[in-house]
Amino acid sequence: MQKPLVPDNEPARVKILRDLCILDTSLESPYQELTELACDLFGVAVSLVTLVDEQRQWFKANTGLDVSETSRDVSFCAHAIVDGQPLLVEDALKDERFYDNPLVTGKPNIRFYAGIPLTLDGEHLLGTFCLIDTQPRRLNERDYKRLQALAKQAEALLRLHQARNEAQQANAAKSEFLSSMSHELRTPLNAIMGFSQLLQASAAEPLSVKQSQQVEQIYRSGEHLLALINDVLDLAKVEAGEVSMQREQVELATCIRQVIALLKPMADKYKVSVIADDLPSLTACVDPLRLRQVLVNLISNALKYNRPQGSVWIEVEQGTELCIQVKDNGVGIAPEKQAEIFTAFNRGGFEQSAIEGSGVGLAVSQNLVEQMGGWLRVHSEPGNGSTFSLCLPAKVLVAPSTGS
Ligand code: ADP
Repeated sequence: MQKPLVPDNEPARVKILRDLCILDTSLESPYQELTELACDLFGVAVSLVTLVDEQRQWFKANTGLDVSETSRDVSFCAHAIVDGQPLLVEDALKDERFYDNPLVTGKPNIRFYAGIPLTLDGEHLLGTFCLIDTQPRRLNERDYKRLQALAKQAEALLRLHQARNEAQQANAAKSEFLSSMSHELRTPLNAIMGFSQLLQASAAEPLSVKQSQQVEQIYRSGEHLLALINDVLDLAKVEAGEVSMQREQVELATCIRQVIALLKPMADKYKVSVIADDLPSLTACVDPLRLRQVLVNLISNALKYNRPQGSVWIEVEQGTELCIQVKDNGVGIAPEKQAEIFTAFNRGGFEQSAIEGSGVGLAVSQNLVEQMGGWLRVHSEPGNGSTFSLCLPAKVLVAPSTGS
């Protein structure tokens, strides 16, 4: 038996394979469907997507074998990845490289093998898409083309896996950066705000009216910046999956009224009335803090993007799902912007406006609602207003409560 040679670029090849973070992951149906299809199409006993690690070959997809890996020394695929050519063995017993290979002389009694090398960059061969049978066989040109087409699909799946990994890593790096930046900014900002309050409060050295107004301006700008930093920190946390969800019984009407009370000063500032008259008495099993956070975002948006003497209505509907609707008769949102506004930092055209915001609230809210098992939707007509619906599956409802 000839042991497989090691490719010249072995260290780089193994690094690419390991960086793919795919070894020892579970079988996945897209890969598995390819090997099932191959067995069906070619009438062979076994088809595999193999990846050749330093000492072993491991199977990402496996139709027909009852092991998940074999030693590299006895692997046929390890031969296929050496010279970059497809490896065709019509009868292993007649091939000096394989006739006494234990996989030939014993189970699974390989006689026929056809393996197409798999690569992500055209240079480093990571494994193969292969067919194995217990009978000698010959592939005609048409079969060979079909096998190559299947191998291309397996390669495309590996590329997708790589792209998904890279996207996840980039996202994690972004969240980490946002989170550490926010922490770093918060300390000096708290000092700025603290000292401006001290200046205001100093009885020994009172400020002139003008100075006091200027210091007040410093403080308000600090407050605004702090709110932005908190938004960004929130976003980093939800994106990193660091938000844990509690489950508590929450009386919805009470929760909604608390949020309305909290936002009363803002409603007064914008001269918008908030109407929540017919709230049903319902208790839901949800995270109270997160629910409140989403409601604060939706209701404050309904106040901000409104008009003087405008209104905001809050309604709860119970059907196949439980929906809290925040409706306003404000400026509305153009149809082409309605999907974008759920993307972080997208302010739907209000970037230069006097209305304060970071464009992060809806992205965070949507993520939180999805983590609660629900969804956030918008229906809006420019000029007539918007309705944001926070919907949760009806199963979050506990028993009807008494009084509201
Ligand atoms: P922010 O309010 O800080 O900009 P959000 O993520 O909460 O960020 O909202 C994103 C954008 O969605 C807003 O900038 C605004 O363009 C739009 N928007 C949200 N709620 C409303 C609403 N009730 N009416 C009109 N536009 C809205």
